[in-house]
Amino acid sequence: MTLTEIMETLPYGPAPEAAKPALDWLKAHKGRFQLFVAGKWRNPASKEWFTTINPANAQKLAEVAQASAADVDEAVKAARKAFAGWSQTKGHVRARYLYAMARQIQKHARLFAVLETLDNGKPIRETRDIDIPLVARHFYYHAGWAQLMESELPGYAPLGVVGQIIPWNFPLLMLAWKVAPALAMGNTVVLKPAEFTPLTALLFAEICQNIGLPPGVVNIITGDGKTGAALVEHPGVDKIAFTGSTEVGRIIRKATAGSGKKLSLELGGKSPFVVFEDADLDSAVEGVVDAIWFNQGQVCCAGSRLLVQEGIAEKMYAKLRARMEKLRVGDPLDKAVDIGAIIAPVQLQKIQQLVQKGVEEGAKLWQPSWAVPTEGCFYPPTLFTEVAPASTIAQEEIFGPVLAALTFRTPEEAVRLANNTRYGLAASIWSEDINLALDVATQIKAGTVWINSTNLFDAASGFGGYRESGFGREGGKEGLWEYVKKIEVHNTAQGQKPRARGLTARASAESLPPIDRTAKLFIGGKQVRPDSGYSKAVYAPDGRLVGEVGLGNRKDIRNAVEAARSAQEGWRKTAAHSKAQILYFLAENLSERAEEFARRLSEQTGQDGGAEVEAALEALFTAAAWADKYEGLVHPTPLRNVTLAIPEPIGVMGILCPDDQPLLALARLAGSALAMGNTLVVVPSPLAPLSATDFYQVLETSDVPAGTFNIVTGERDELARTLAEHDDVDAVWYAGPQAGWALVEKASAGNMKRTWTLPSSGPLPDTEEILRQATQVKNIWVPYGA
Ligand code: NDP
Repeated sequence: MTLTEIMETLPYGPAPEAAKPALDWLKAHKGRFQLFVAGKWRNPASKEWFTTINPANAQKLAEVAQASAADVDEAVKAARKAFAGWSQTKGHVRARYLYAMARQIQKHARLFAVLETLDNGKPIRETRDIDIPLVARHFYYHAGWAQLMESELPGYAPLGVVGQIIPWNFPLLMLAWKVAPALAMGNTVVLKPAEFTPLTALLFAEICQNIGLPPGVVNIITGDGKTGAALVEHPGVDKIAFTGSTEVGRIIRKATAGSGKKLSLELGGKSPFVVFEDADLDSAVEGVVDAIWFNQGQVCCAGSRLLVQEGIAEKMYAKLRARMEKLRVGDPLDKAVDIGAIIAPVQLQKIQQLVQKGVEEGAKLWQPSWAVPTEGCFYPPTLFTEVAPASTIAQEEIFGPVLAALTFRTPEEAVRLANNTRYGLAASIWSEDINLALDVATQIKAGTVWINSTNLFDAASGFGGYRESGFGREGGKEGLWEYVKKIEVHNTAQGQKPRARGLTARASAESLPPIDRTAKLFIGGKQVRPDSGYSKAVYAPDGRLVGEVGLGNRKDIRNAVEAARSAQEGWRKTAAHSKAQILYFLAENLSERAEEFARRLSEQTGQDGGAEVEAALEALFTAAAWADKYEGLVHPTPLRNVTLAIPEPIGVMGILCPDDQPLLALARLAGSALAMGNTLVVVPSPLAPLSATDFYQVLETSDVPAGTFNIVTGERDELARTLAEHDDVDAVWYAGPQAGWALVEKASAGNMKRTWTLPSSGPLPDTEEILRQATQVKNIWVPYGA
């Protein structure tokens, strides 16, 4: 045998990591773990316990308490009690605690890594080199934000008690993503780890005790979906932060609808991995390994759809098969293993069923020649080629080591295929042409885009989805907004006090115009009659008729959404400078007719119309000013890399305006949303819609592209429901009564659209907040180096 032959046939010897320290830790707790509430360990009120097992060998690791609704209640009470002190604790002191957590995690990194591998089945190489270092990084990074909160987020306060529910795929990392920013901003938390993987969260609870964190600031309650549901429904919780499946995300969206609880959802994905023909193919193949076989493919942002340019497809597949043949599946504690165990038999079955479906639907299956271990839960790396874009395996999240490959011919087709999904979590683009890569990156609808790289994470970079992948960001400065609220300042900065309908001074009878015409709707740049053929009367505060508007219905909303969708791409791509010009032009044309608008406002509201027109002009100017100045950030993520955090428009937005200051509300809400590149379907307040209908002519004379700004008058809640249920609407802002908040939030769960609920009267939110609500941050990772 030659030396070369020996080298090529040399088998891997086992290189196991010692499990003893973690097993000793389990033994020291007699294999049983209580709930961590108010800084103490306590038995569950239910007296029930469940078992957590090692998926690599099906052996029992420990018994863990099953928290009932009563336990959830105790934990929320403890967090509420602790909030009083923690929210007042100086940022510097909170920073010290977060720093201590980071240090403790580093000092016990090996124990955490082994425990995570035992409980989850992921390879020790990943827990040791990725999960745990990133956990420490998150605590360090957010220690910094705690320190800087006062100077960098002036005027913002913590929310209160935050309920956090996390999945099993990155147990401690998801804990860090949630706990670190919440504590940094002065909130207290009740966290429920996943039933399959509670152990590292319990070890983290011990750290909280050891560093002397005030009791109740962090509470860890173990349990199943019922425990999670009880936490979601608890009235004492101010915010829910959830990571998990889109199905459960939808349930939570509905359950919190109308409750006033803030919500962030990080859900599933079907992320595209796009390889252009000029890509470095060997790097791209390694990229695929990290994209879909990292963590057994049980990753929400896994690059599970491989899109390859046609000319290089066969070459790419051949390289990929050769690489797959060399991957090693087996004991996760073995340091030379690439792919560990699937979390549980139920997940394994799900993967098997979806693979079977792929075969039935005609895709070509390929798996390596070797067999996976039969003991424990294992599945081989799998490649499907000849996959149809609409097939189940191209659309459904498999959450396993299964890659579905499709081909494309042009960059346009690549973008279309990449966006052919209900999700929008991440994307990976491979090309040596940076112009092409960045051009495609801006067109893919996803919260994170990696160029010539994949699955890069860092605390400084925000992570979160578009579309049904959820909303909200974790990490980066953008992630902090999820855990703060604006401190309410009661002043008269809005220029006007909220009016009390019917009680205010009325305009003189002489100023009333004759009841002359019924305003139509404004859709696709044209004034159109409402589908219903009905109109609706508009009354002055003292009950006199001042005009009529068209009564829009579902069909009108659908037409308006269609117009807004057609206009979206063009408006999004319109240069920021041109958007600003159009907004200035709107202001100019409004000012031409200031007197007429002032009179109309006085008739409808009984308030000083002149002051409101002035405020509206200023709002349009502010929106125009921001159009070319609302900048992103460049996050200093590690490695030779720049991460561009770019605010992007959300898309098609429905805006249901408040009753007070109807023209100012229109200018400030719609103006800002337009400035950020969204196209709109605006429903004016049913009490004072005439200023909006008069605005048609201003729109028509100001170069606003047809379909960009649509206005439908009618019954607010009826139109709100249609907008919230419409799958082609990306966000709904609803100003109206609380009952309407619930309606909109519940109905929005269909496509997980973003919602923002506001009171029907009172001061309007400030521009900074509106701009944030009108955008979503995309993080584009651009590594460099020759
Ligand atoms: P779930 O979404 O069910 O679980 C996520 C977390 O939510 C867990 O802590 C779970 O508790 C909890 N939970 C379950 N039901 C409710 C409820 N009604 N109210 C509140 N909390 C609840 O994911 P699964 O673990 O069941 O996995 C199923 C599928 O979800 C996977 O196959 C995968 O496709 C996807 N998934 C996606 C993830 C992502 O990061 N995007 C992460 C995990 C899964 P418990 O599990 O303890 O019962």
